[in-house]
Amino acid sequence: MRSLCLIAGTLALVSPAAGELRVVAATNDIGAIAKAVGGDHVEIDVVARPDRDPHAFEVRPSTLRAAARADAYLEVGLSLDLWSADVVRGSRNRKLVVIDCSQAIEPRDVPVGKVDASMGDIHPDGNPHYWLNPRNGAAVARFLAGRFAAIDSEHAADYDGGAQRFAAAINERWAVWESRLADRSFVEHHRTWVYLAAVFGMEIVGRVEPQPGIPPSARHLADLSELIRERSVPVVVRDAYHSEVALEFLARETGVRTAVLPSSCDEPDPAAYLAMFDRAAAVLGRPAREPATEEQVR
Ligand SMILES: [Zn+2]
Repeated sequence: MRSLCLIAGTLALVSPAAGELRVVAATNDIGAIAKAVGGDHVEIDVVARPDRDPHAFEVRPSTLRAAARADAYLEVGLSLDLWSADVVRGSRNRKLVVIDCSQAIEPRDVPVGKVDASMGDIHPDGNPHYWLNPRNGAAVARFLAGRFAAIDSEHAADYDGGAQRFAAAINERWAVWESRLADRSFVEHHRTWVYLAAVFGMEIVGRVEPQPGIPPSARHLADLSELIRERSVPVVVRDAYHSEVALEFLARETGVRTAVLPSSCDEPDPAAYLAMFDRAAAVLGRPAREPATEEQVR
């Protein structure tokens, strides 16, 4: 973006050195990908906190102020961040370009037939946790490079280069992640890790939530314990914002290892996004038959 500057009676167009493109991202993960693409040309504010449930987030006034002066708003989409509509509306910023990052990926878990309340917090357009496949991260980066170039054409080549470097960084780590994760199995709390499991050929044996957002019954947990024993499941994971109660029960019943596995990165920073998969590899890829402990991974 350019700002108009009056110097010694002549009009000059000046490109500020950093942060020309003001971006508000719904989550740290989307913010990290945007930073990988935009580098020094972008200034990023993030709405959701990584330790809070992104399905239900309360928007802060400071976010609305950031959105009021932003050029672009990046939503996760697939009805994860329905609160993003409140940010866009509350910003009263008519020039804000709203970008739905889920357009860059192929959704999984798209429900067939009619969706009703008995199915829990089901997302009608598919599972929204798509950033947990690093290849989808690269796809979102490519998509954003095009969208940023449309707003700020002067730096189109830089945005393209940023997306390419990000994809290369993911490719560089791929073999290590794959060697640790391929063919592994686990139980998850919520329907969070389906994209990661699919891309690395992992099996999700069961879930603590019988349906998304629906807490488990005693019967469901007893069945799940049975399954964990039968299938020798090595680990059960939950997000920091899920209760530890069910995992403690499963560990007591079966001796299974349990762990907190964050599904959002700590910072809107490309390195933090990549580190999230290093952590996933350490937690989900570790050999089985270790002592049952509630392990804090951060
Ligand atoms: Zn979800």
